[in-house]
Amino acid sequence: MRDGQVTEIGAALLGWYDAQARVMPWRTGPAERAAGVRPDPYRVWLSEVMLQQTTVAAVRAYFHRFTELWPTVADLAAAEDGAVMAEWAGLGYYARARNLLACARAVVRDHGGVFPASREGLLTLPGIGPYTAAAISAIAHDAPEVVLDGNVERVVARLFAVETPLPAAKPELYRLAGLLTPQRRPGDHAQAMMDLGATICTPRSPACGICPVMNFCAARRAGIAADLPRKTPKAAKPTRTGTVWVARRPDGALLVERRPERGLLGGMLGFPGDGWDGSAGAAPLDAGWRPAGEVRHTFTHFHLILQVLVAETAAAPRRGAYLAMPDLHPTDLPTLMRKAHDLALAALADASGGSI
Ligand code: SF4
Repeated sequence: MRDGQVTEIGAALLGWYDAQARVMPWRTGPAERAAGVRPDPYRVWLSEVMLQQTTVAAVRAYFHRFTELWPTVADLAAAEDGAVMAEWAGLGYYARARNLLACARAVVRDHGGVFPASREGLLTLPGIGPYTAAAISAIAHDAPEVVLDGNVERVVARLFAVETPLPAAKPELYRLAGLLTPQRRPGDHAQAMMDLGATICTPRSPACGICPVMNFCAARRAGIAADLPRKTPKAAKPTRTGTVWVARRPDGALLVERRPERGLLGGMLGFPGDGWDGSAGAAPLDAGWRPAGEVRHTFTHFHLILQVLVAETAAAPRRGAYLAMPDLHPTDLPTLMRKAHDLALAALADASGGSI
């Protein structure tokens, strides 16, 4: 890439961003941007933590709900753990929700309710790693940080035609993304790169014909855009199997237990189980258990096939406790347990001729 091209790329990207930036509930609008108004660090942080789990489309509803319930970091810090966990259900990976709360509380306790502005300061907070620290620092405080998510990695790999496969290419991509990061409007530059990767420089079929940096793109020139970034093949995820027991008392209460704080679905309510999370457990009570079917779920590191056994019983449990509405609402359950709940209740309804 010749001298001066980096500046031209930066200008082309910012011009495109000013005209085409995606509207996001955690971003400022064009008029605010023009007036130099930065977005609220709390909202940027919340969106970044949520976006580690899923897509922008899926995050919007969660983001609105969280900011309605807890408009400031102080509100979130004061929230009940169970309420936050329940709202997080469906986003998966509950360690993040626990870190979310720990982080909000640390900001209030140690920083007077104000997020640190620097990457280094942000890195001292629970659950904030190098990427999230750089993103918050750049987006909320306009610091010239290198913000390299999967979308940006793809754009950089293509712009510079980096053929080394990921993850080995990461240091090189970081260096090149750093070359592109301007001193002027680095926060908008970071978001422009994210938007370009999400909307135009997409994984399978990049829309090079409408790309604001098409004239600078080495992969496009070489005709290899759609092949980059190259990836080292991943080992297949293993499949685990396990069992959960769903017992229903005649009054409708269900037998549940609070999961250990550490580990899968830590601190959440669930049905007593065996095998699937590495623990060994026996049926929580003696009853005429019947199979209701199986639920499938994918965690970060494995696929799970869970056998669901059901029983109508008044027997006292050896573990867990019976809970009924309103103390147990299906939305309090993490997604896996919700699937087991729905399957179990359908099976129990069939057995009782439709009444549940
Ligand atoms: Fe991506 Fe194509 Fe633009 Fe290159 S020209 S950055 S491959 S969309």
